[in-house]
Amino acid sequence: MMKLRTEHISQRLLISMIIIIVSLLFISVPSIVNSYQSYKRAERALIEVSVLRNVAELTNNISRERAPANQVMSSTPEKRAEYIEELKRYRANVDQQIEETTQLLKSSGFIPHAQHLSLQLKSSLKEGRDAVDAYAATPQSSRSSAQLDHAIQKMFAAWDGSQYVLKHVMLDSVGKDSRAATYYSVIFVLSELRDQAGRVASNIMAAITFGEKIPAENLANSLQNQRQAYHLWDLVHTILPEAHKVPEYTALHHRLKTEFLDQGIPIVKQLMEQSLQGEAYSLTGTQLTEVMVNKFSTVVDLQTYLLDYSLNLAKKDYIKAQQKLVLTLVVALISLMAAIFTMVYARSKVFIPLIQARSQILRLAAYDDEAQGTQNPDKVTLFEAIQKLKQRLEQRDILEFQLRNIANTDALTGVSNRLALEEYIKYLEHRPEKLSKTGLIIMDVDKFKHINDTFGHVVGDQALKCIADTLKAHVRASDLVVRYGGDEFLVLIEQIEFTEALYLADKLRCHIVNQEIFIPELNDYIQVSVSAGVAVGAASWSRLLEKADKHLFRAKARGRNAVAGD
Ligand code: GH3
Ligand code: MG
Repeated sequence: MMKLRTEHISQRLLISMIIIIVSLLFISVPSIVNSYQSYKRAERALIEVSVLRNVAELTNNISRERAPANQVMSSTPEKRAEYIEELKRYRANVDQQIEETTQLLKSSGFIPHAQHLSLQLKSSLKEGRDAVDAYAATPQSSRSSAQLDHAIQKMFAAWDGSQYVLKHVMLDSVGKDSRAATYYSVIFVLSELRDQAGRVASNIMAAITFGEKIPAENLANSLQNQRQAYHLWDLVHTILPEAHKVPEYTALHHRLKTEFLDQGIPIVKQLMEQSLQGEAYSLTGTQLTEVMVNKFSTVVDLQTYLLDYSLNLAKKDYIKAQQKLVLTLVVALISLMAAIFTMVYARSKVFIPLIQARSQILRLAAYDDEAQGTQNPDKVTLFEAIQKLKQRLEQRDILEFQLRNIANTDALTGVSNRLALEEYIKYLEHRPEKLSKTGLIIMDVDKFKHINDTFGHVVGDQALKCIADTLKAHVRASDLVVRYGGDEFLVLIEQIEFTEALYLADKLRCHIVNQEIFIPELNDYIQVSVSAGVAVGAASWSRLLEKADKHLFRAKARGRNAVAGD
């Protein structure tokens, strides 16, 4: 039954351990899951920003392809071959970028976007390029501005395809609530601005190249593009939160205004004015392309800056989320380990010793009962066992006390012996203030040898017993009566004046001398006298004893049955 109880305790410990571990898991798991989800979101946001950066770059490059294409189409026959080479290189570059972006879109889960890029965009770009090539292959004399404008418009369509992908990557992003996504709309608007800026000049390019009047539709389109560009420039500034307008951004935004809006658009406006006035154009198509192409770089710079900024933010958030996840895992693991360690430690260092102590107490108690043969040890409760042990300890204390008493008592007379006196002296010597007020009476039986010699030792013993009884009967319980040796007794009294001590000594002497001691062996009474020396207070015990002893000697010398002191 006792064994069963021990097992119960172990079982309960195990259950508490399981409860603590499960509770810890309940606390830790949601925060681990939460950190993991944040980490996954940050990882996704980083991927999406990288994809966006790629698509935006591709979109800009497709938009920018109109520049070398326009060069080819508006060039003089001598320079054409050189421009065609340049266009080919540019196209190869764009094609490679389309491939890479398609792969990136696919691997990042933007499957429909990748398909759009590799099907629609490629085909519309091909159409645009075919129109450019067809125009370039047409002999100079057979060319018309309508044909050139057609090719330029076809290239616009290719850009529309890439801008579509850019827009949908943003719309389908799952990390739209990330910090990096703050810039998505600005990036999109800048892409739009980049293209509108390009169209401002491209719309009048055909007429300028042919030195013809700009058709009303193209004029209207170009003017609309200009307005759009201004509007988009304003929009960028409006939608970007104030907190994100760092000096670097403000400088780029300002440069866009001065270089493109303030310098680029007036060139186009001037050409439009010249067309309306029927004047000769101040620039050729090639010159217009060359002048304008650099003006767009400010838009691309601003966009690239924002993309890099977003990418950086996304990277930082990703690292932070990763660190948080690791930290959460480590903290959870440490808490779990600490709980397990504490439980294991408590089990081995607290509970098992307690169980063992309990068993031991029960065993000790059972031993007692077995001796009495009354009780089954297994049925003893811990409380009963402790009670029993307590009783046993009390009994032992009493026994010890009795033994000490025996050791300290003179066997013949029952008063204290020299062992007890020595203990008392030790106690006194540590308290000099007490010693200075302690009185000592040293008492010696007169002519005791004679009693021994006359009546025998047994009678002598009886006389000693009688004297001791008289002494004890007439001092206080707190006074110490000692048989110092042979027929010599000491009485020690704390806190006493000398006269009182002297009085007490004489009183004791009188009691002894007046007492008739009945001796059964003699069937008669005998009388004994005592002499006493009295001393009160000394620097040490030996000095006190010496003083009292000296007075005893004086009392004896006076003829015995006397008390002396000073
Ligand atoms: P005084 O008056 O000078 O003290 O003479 P006295 O004969 O008493 O001399 P003293 O005190 O020197 O002698 C003590 C005697 O006590 C000596 C010894 O035989 C005797 N004695 C000592 N112990 C005991 C004892 O336990 N029992 C008996 N019966 N006698 C003892
Ligand atoms: Mg004597």
